[in-house]
Amino acid sequence: MSECLFCRIVAGKLPTTILYEDDRLVAFEDISPRAPTHILIVPRRHVATLNDLAPEDHGLVGEMVWRAAALAKERGIAEAGYRTVFNCNREAGQTVFHIHLHLLGGRTLAWPPG
Ligand code: AMP
Ligand code: ZN
Repeated sequence: MSECLFCRIVAGKLPTTILYEDDRLVAFEDISPRAPTHILIVPRRHVATLNDLAPEDHGLVGEMVWRAAALAKERGIAEAGYRTVFNCNREAGQTVFHIHLHLLGGRTLAWPPG
């Protein structure tokens, strides 16, 4: 999957601001932030969309959400509030087909999203 953008980031082949990494996850700054905090949390394993998750990925997704909450606390936005988003496929606006959890905060976020 060397052509996958986020696989290349996970492999350290693209310059990125890494905020957290372990043997399963990497978190980095979104290159085109939509809010003062806009972080992407991705699994090291290539999974194209949420539709491609396997039963054994339950723990992985839980770790992604838990990591988003931890990063929100680190950024000081946890109490004010933040949003976590997985976009899945075209109508939701997914553009990179390696699952990623957006962590957005640092401003008031409109609801519902566009
Ligand atoms: P989505 O539209 O949900 O697939 O989100 C993809 C996100 O990846 C967008 O918010 C982009 O700004 C972000 N993105 C694209 N290329 C890079 C990159 N090289 N480094 C960091 N974020 C990126
Ligand atoms: Zn990938």
